[in-house]
Amino acid sequence: MNNNIEGKVIVITGASSGFGKVAAEYLSERGAKVVLVARRAERIEKLAEEIQEKGGQALAVTTDVTDASQVQKLVDAAVEAFGRIDVMINNAGLMQQSPLEINKMDEWDNMIDVNIKGVLYGIAAVLPQMKKQKSGHIINVSSVAGHKVIPGGTVYCATKHAVRAISEGLRMEIKQYNLRTTTISPGAVDTELPNHITHEASAQGIQGFYKQFAISADSFARAVAFAISQPEDMDVNEILYRPTAQE
Ligand code: NDP
Repeated sequence: MNNNIEGKVIVITGASSGFGKVAAEYLSERGAKVVLVARRAERIEKLAEEIQEKGGQALAVTTDVTDASQVQKLVDAAVEAFGRIDVMINNAGLMQQSPLEINKMDEWDNMIDVNIKGVLYGIAAVLPQMKKQKSGHIINVSSVAGHKVIPGGTVYCATKHAVRAISEGLRMEIKQYNLRTTTISPGAVDTELPNHITHEASAQGIQGFYKQFAISADSFARAVAFAISQPEDMDVNEILYRPTAQE
């Protein structure tokens, strides 16, 4: 029986580690053609090779999602390679916690650029292609931090609230073209995400929290697969999940 994933062309940003890597492996094992996107070229090229060795189809396209022209080139490369894009997963993200009073403005800029603008650039680049196809699915990655605000994580939480707002606006605007929009909002999951925090006390706090609660990135892959595998007349608008033990 068709699993509704087999044969789909799925672009995944942030595929060099964590959610994106595990989702690429999971979806390609179920027959998807995956386009792997990140800045660390060697990682996504190695992953593409591993997927191909297992009989899957994968293309690595080194891209910085904060550069709209690079994101457009990525979409063009995916269409050239596979003829269409069925699913765009705007997953690339950055979390750099620190209290606002410390004024780490470069980190605020980075998070806004990757977590908000990167998602918008992904949408902008893929939408004309999906409209032409009259079918497609855009999946944006928010967080439990898109549902509540955590002290020390104000800017990260703001970016993840923004992702939910963008997704809901997008959903209402593009349903007329038979396009689906899903937001995935996970809780603590074991990835490289906490490694980029430079404020020592915040890093220690988050790492302790993740040690206590974080579950495997397979959880994300299963959530994505659930949304993608629904029939075209069903749009899973949001999946919010946490480790069972997380408050
Ligand atoms: P990781 O740090 O493991 O992965 C982040 C990915 O984003 C990497 O592949 C990285 O690739 C990519 N990335 C970062 N900046 C850029 C950029 N400028 N251009 C292209 N790619 C970029 O973390 P996760 O897998 O956990 O994070 C994935 C998403 O999930 C993020 O949006 C995160 O906010 C969200 N999330 C994570 C949770 C968790 O607990 N892990 C919980 C809720 C949401 P590279 O550095 O090679 O460019």
